Amino acid sequence: MEHTGTVRGRFAPSPSGRIHLGNILCCLLAWLSVRQRGGRVILRVEDLDTARCPRRYAAQMEEDLRWLGLDWDEGPGAGGADGPYYQSRRTALYQAALERLTDLGLVYPCFCTRAELHAASAPHREDGQVVYAGTCRRLTAAEAAERARLRSPALRLRVPEEEIAFTDGHMGVYRENLARDCGDFLLRRSDGMFAYQLAVVVDDAAMGVTEVVRGADLLSSTPRQLLLYRLLGLPVPSFIHFPLLLAPDGRRLSKRDADAGLDSLRDRVAAAEVLGRLAYLAGFNPSAEPRTAEALLEDFSWEKVPREDIRIPAGLF
Ligand code: GLU
Repeated sequence: MEHTGTVRGRFAPSPSGRIHLGNILCCLLAWLSVRQRGGRVILRVEDLDTARCPRRYAAQMEEDLRWLGLDWDEGPGAGGADGPYYQSRRTALYQAALERLTDLGLVYPCFCTRAELHAASAPHREDGQVVYAGTCRRLTAAEAAERARLRSPALRLRVPEEEIAFTDGHMGVYRENLARDCGDFLLRRSDGMFAYQLAVVVDDAAMGVTEVVRGADLLSSTPRQLLLYRLLGLPVPSFIHFPLLLAPDGRRLSKRDADAGLDSLRDRVAAAEVLGRLAYLAGFNPSAEPRTAEALLEDFSWEKVPREDIRIPAGLF
């Protein structure tokens, strides 16, 4: 559908468990950034991994967001012209994009097993991901056909030897040479599941998203996504990455952190208490007093949000 004029932001959580404080901060920031400018909020459920993201988790997540007072204009329960809003129901769109990239001659099958990927001598990135050594890039068509008789392949995108740079709205300039820092990346896994990188680009473009707000753990995904936008000829949104929330002991928050999950929080605290404390940690609530999302609109600005990871003090929640 044609989208003109207003800012369009989105929540794009993966419902693989109950949402935690990091997911809530993400939705709060995305919501405030868009609502402050009178824009529209979209909720898209990133449930590509249907085994890990059963529908009941998505339903719980939608209910939790409503409880928090973070509403959306387009998405599950709200309608909108760009649905379905569940990635598990959008695979035809990802397939079409994959075919387009295949027609450009940029896609090849990869038969490497997980063990082979780790054993390959390519260096590891700082975030622990393996840089793909390009093993299957060199297979001839005949060799690939032979292997495909035994094993269904994953599909990878051939990346250029080129630096991709962009200016993040919060973190400043970020650059990466995909060939060196990432390698040819996955578009579809061997079990047929489309990769996050492809799905997120196809969906943000199809839904007319103009502003992507998400955690700094995805900063290093952005050059891959920028390459896909370019190859697919799609309009590029602006990107705003915010610092990660860390547990009191300094570890990354995960859905396994029971204390940070809404299942335990909702029994103990009100929505405005959750939001007020998060906003305090993120620099735009002067104290940890309860605040509704609506009330935070007047105090929020990106300049107040720190750029370093934020550790949650013990006992705050
Ligand atoms: N679904 C991703 C997550 O839950 C977010 C993707 C994005 O914002 O681009 O971490």
